[in-house]
Amino acid sequence: SSWWSNVEPAPKDPILGVTEAYLADPSPDKVNVGVGAYRDDNGKPVVLECVREAERTIAGNLNMEYLPMGGSNKMIEESLKLAYGEDSEFIKDRRIAAVQSLSGTGACRLFADFQKRFLPDSQIYIPVPTWANHHNIWRDARVPQQTFHYYHPDTRGLDFASLMEDIKKAPNGSFFLLHACAHNPTGVDPSEEQWREISHLFKVKNHFPFFDMAYQGFASGDPERDAKAIRIFLEDGHLIGCAQSYAKNMGLYGQRVGCLSILCEDEMQAVAVKSQLQQIARPMYSNPPVHGALIVSIILSDPDLKSLWLKEVKVMADRIIGMRKALRENLEKLGSPLSWEHVTNQIGMFCYSGMTPEQVDRLTNEFHIYMTRNGRISMAGVTTGNVTYLANAIHEVTK
Ligand code: PMP
Repeated sequence: SSWWSNVEPAPKDPILGVTEAYLADPSPDKVNVGVGAYRDDNGKPVVLECVREAERTIAGNLNMEYLPMGGSNKMIEESLKLAYGEDSEFIKDRRIAAVQSLSGTGACRLFADFQKRFLPDSQIYIPVPTWANHHNIWRDARVPQQTFHYYHPDTRGLDFASLMEDIKKAPNGSFFLLHACAHNPTGVDPSEEQWREISHLFKVKNHFPFFDMAYQGFASGDPERDAKAIRIFLEDGHLIGCAQSYAKNMGLYGQRVGCLSILCEDEMQAVAVKSQLQQIARPMYSNPPVHGALIVSIILSDPDLKSLWLKEVKVMADRIIGMRKALRENLEKLGSPLSWEHVTNQIGMFCYSGMTPEQVDRLTNEFHIYMTRNGRISMAGVTTGNVTYLANAIHEVTK
């Protein structure tokens, strides 16, 4: 017997498995609405012009030295301005402990490890449903998980009453994972007023809000607007944690660039917290990769490139919002008696369609349409070329 005879194959990732099946299908009609990455109206991956431009600046100037343990200070500084606001007093007062992370996933994981190390008895409250990897992240960090109500299957919207009830019921001082905008997989966000109520109740309960912000700018087309929930919590005086990712809003998926920040009581605490975050990163990967960090810091620190980025991120968001309209209109034109209002009410990359696993199976088997069995449609995979076909198929399996 060998060293590893006790190793069984790991279960397949439900999302990556969809793409595999799609690639293996020879049908010319096939549609992939499983993938969580932006596509243009021809179904092609996109590299933003501002990124190309930044890369031209880097070429020739880039050395291959290590970044500091906490990553690029310039990238961090720009990221904080984006999340906390250009003129944030917290930035001025140096109260935010922040490190460059391996995109949004790495930021969440670093935070989970930090939470476990310094508050070993704490738990994390996670919304139902959520991005499946959240469960893996806090599980591997050995932080016990609790859940809170979020989505209402009947309304295909927010279950605000139960959400508030769960926040109330949680022991004072609990940790909550919140999606800052464009909740994955539901596309359902609280309204501004609801965020204010949530923030108020957090204050009463002394809960800790950890914001996973994987879609800033990508949801509404405006990064300021998408940061609204965070800004409300900041106004209310919360000490927050925040995971940022440039995968979606700059299309830097494979560069793995993001930022983890924790707002502290004062500068001294922030220095201590940052040093401990670095301490956790050091034995895992020493320091983060340099290329993506340079792209981000060049774009965000150059006014022309930044305004080009703002335009391009809006183009992506607008295309998705347009496809939501088109999908809903097509379904209504077909005479579907069901309500498809949620398709346009939801926001961000995903539409939580409400289709059952059996209906999704029919879409795949009869129409070569690939998506996760929870009925989540990646709007990024919808184009003017396939939206009619998609609507027809959805109508067929839901009538
Ligand atoms: N959080 C959420 C809610 C996400 O949807 C994603 C991307 N699917 C991430 C975090 C992390 O993505 P990345 O690590 O590529 O930044």
